Amino acid sequence: MKVNEVLILTNEEFILFKSDHSKNVIMRQQLRRFVNQLNSRHSHLSDWHVNVSEKLISRHIIESNYQQKLEFDFELMKKGMRCDECDGWLGTTRKYSRKNLYCLSCESKVDLETAVLKCINEYQLLFPKRKITVNTIFEWSGECVSCHMIRKVLNKYYIPVGTTKGKYYLPID
Ligand SMILES: [Zn+2]
Repeated sequence: MKVNEVLILTNEEFILFKSDHSKNVIMRQQLRRFVNQLNSRHSHLSDWHVNVSEKLISRHIIESNYQQKLEFDFELMKKGMRCDECDGWLGTTRKYSRKNLYCLSCESKVDLETAVLKCINEYQLLFPKRKITVNTIFEWSGECVSCHMIRKVLNKYYIPVGTTKGKYYLPID
């Protein structure tokens, strides 16, 4: 059986420059046309073809052996929020600013809501099994944003679950 190899890049935002194998590379924007071309080909499919496709599907590897699983220990990690510009730590000049945080190294100004959202995203990415609560995000932020502000951001962008004491939040998606 003749096998033609094609690399399909599904990420819409991915751009490939200087491809030497452009014939075998299908970008997201070309995918529909590629599938239409395949479908328009006249061919007779026999049981043999079905067997081959079933065999291929049965051998599909969902999790790569090369994928590394990293475990992070919340208790051991240094808490705080980092600056996008210089990777320094963010802080406030006065306790619990309502609007902005400042980088303690390069003095960049960061909008508080943006910083809190980034902090929550980071927490979710590093600790997918842990619950998102006001207190844990407060701790993860290095306690430089008030619980009041964290609750406000969570209520705006996340789904609250449970009542006052055991309340946690789920991402909307
Ligand atoms: Zn900075």
